[in-house]
Amino acid sequence: MRLSRYFLPVLKENPAEAQIVSHRLMLRAGMIKQSSAGIYSWLPMGFKVLRKIENIVHEEQMRAGHIPMQMPTIQSADLWRESGRYDDYGQEMLRIKDRHDHDMLFTPTAEELITDIFRGHVKSYKDLPLTMYQIQWKFRDERRPRFGVMRGREFYMKDGYNFDLTKEDALHAYNRHLVSYLRTYERMGLQAIPMRADSGPIGGDDTHEFLVLAETGESEVFYDSAVTDLTFGDREIDYDSVEQCAGVLEEFTSKYARTDETHDEALFNEIPEDRRRVARGIEVGQIFYFGTKYSDAMGATVQDSEGNQVPVHMGSHGIGVSRLLGAIIEASHDDNGIIWPEGVTPFHCGIVNLKQGDDAADAACEDLYKQLTNAGLEPLYDDRNERAGGKFATMDLIGLPWRITVGPRGLKNGVVELTSRKSGESEEMAPADAVAKIISIYENHRVRGL
Ligand code: ATP
Ligand code: MG
Repeated sequence: MRLSRYFLPVLKENPAEAQIVSHRLMLRAGMIKQSSAGIYSWLPMGFKVLRKIENIVHEEQMRAGHIPMQMPTIQSADLWRESGRYDDYGQEMLRIKDRHDHDMLFTPTAEELITDIFRGHVKSYKDLPLTMYQIQWKFRDERRPRFGVMRGREFYMKDGYNFDLTKEDALHAYNRHLVSYLRTYERMGLQAIPMRADSGPIGGDDTHEFLVLAETGESEVFYDSAVTDLTFGDREIDYDSVEQCAGVLEEFTSKYARTDETHDEALFNEIPEDRRRVARGIEVGQIFYFGTKYSDAMGATVQDSEGNQVPVHMGSHGIGVSRLLGAIIEASHDDNGIIWPEGVTPFHCGIVNLKQGDDAADAACEDLYKQLTNAGLEPLYDDRNERAGGKFATMDLIGLPWRITVGPRGLKNGVVELTSRKSGESEEMAPADAVAKIISIYENHRVRGL
């Protein structure tokens, strides 16, 4: 992409309404624009990152054997009356009447609808296990929408639902989700710690929330600092293996890590004092096992191997896709702007032409642009007629992990400069070497963008 032709409405001043750094930077970097309280337009660069995050979620869900599908955002109230949640959900639910005076609603989550699809089609234990998911817009009329995409009213969420014959099978699905979530967040450059949580209006027994530690987080969390040493890394895992998935769950959840809702001071005090931590966190996902709560209420049964009709065991599992943009920025920025992890960066590298109009500099930039593009990467070429300082400031603000700087003086010696956004370190090298290095850096981070 050439910056001169892109739509990147960066702001020079800090917007007054933004209280936290991620909100400020998303507005300043021209990623989002509020349309009404807690409802945003996703401008091209914000949309690009949203899609990358979404694609990582898809890849990891499908890797775990979960099946993508999509349900409507507008649903009839009837199913929600069946489950009893139409009244329970309260003012967070946006209720709508259609022209025939039918009660409709904008979906805040989709347990009812998926259970209805399931009961209409699945009759036998032979069709289990089954896990389907969608990535779809949700609406919750939050009392205090704030912090930009962190607590929106309209937000983008992955919601997955497992249907299993037995409690053990459903717990395996739960563990499988935990494993897939660990992988998902790490690919985005995030450490998200699974913490024992409270189930809230979804209902159920077993639930973990995934929290990214950040001072601006809305949840108070209590944990043993040993949990922050754990990483999933690139280990191979067989998602069908009950033992392997249970082993990972055990490894990542056996140390104390809880949100304030489930915090137990006595247990916490058993942790050696130097490892006790009280901090704040951003909830980026949650997994639930809720047994037969919805299948009982809505009659979702299957025939088991002995011919009995039994209710299926279910769970639901969410990832806050749009909230993740904010969480990633909270975890990765400096005074000059965003620092995108390579896995989600909107463009793979920036190309800064120090002297637009200089024949050698223009030709070298065009060549770099072409080679990176031909290698399947997306460079952002700042080809505007601006002074170098302004170009650097924009690149730092929008946070591309790598920048190639091209100027007439360097080119005389056959070199360009490759700079890491994170460390700030620069290295001079031949343009071909810079291209080769960028290609090798992204070998493990190929996610489709837009
Ligand atoms: P919270 O406690 O933050 O209100 P929740 O527990 O009600 O969230 P879930 O039903 O668990 O939310 O939804 C799954 C995920 O969707 C959450 O982990 C969170 O990352 C994201 N999410 C929930 N509400 C919002 C919102 N208002 N804006 C953006 N993301 C949200
Ligand atoms: Mg939650």
